[in-house]
Amino acid sequence: MSDLRELYQEVILDHNKRPRNFEELPDAERRATGHNPLCGDRVEVFLDLEGDRVRRVTFQGAGCAISQASASLMTEAVEGKTLAEAEALFESFHDLLTDGPTAGARDLGKLEAFAGVKDYPMRVKCATLAWHTLREALRSGAGAATASTE
Ligand code: ZN
Repeated sequence: MSDLRELYQEVILDHNKRPRNFEELPDAERRATGHNPLCGDRVEVFLDLEGDRVRRVTFQGAGCAISQASASLMTEAVEGKTLAEAEALFESFHDLLTDGPTAGARDLGKLEAFAGVKDYPMRVKCATLAWHTLREALRSGAGAATASTE
């Protein structure tokens, strides 16, 4: 159980219980939906840009604590960032989860709560679903898009 406790750190529990930016943006410039069939997690990301900067990002969805907390923390992490910064953050976050080469090279702040996920490979997709969906929304241009972790 101690491993599980390590995995479900307080910040993850908090964001699962009280997700931030959990709302639909009815007039969002961009949106995308993501689905993680391995776990059943679903997330929809809403995005408004200002130039090449993320002005506002929100989400809705349902799924395991990791997927929902990750989506909540993702919205906090990328708001105000440029698209390039958001992309770099995703790369670093993904490296953190998979013990990739640049892990630790960047200060991920609260996102480091997910470091324990790398011991649970099945959970990596839960933690990255919102990020994949964000990337899909960013790359889609105007309109709707769909992301899958498969
Ligand atoms: Zn999940």
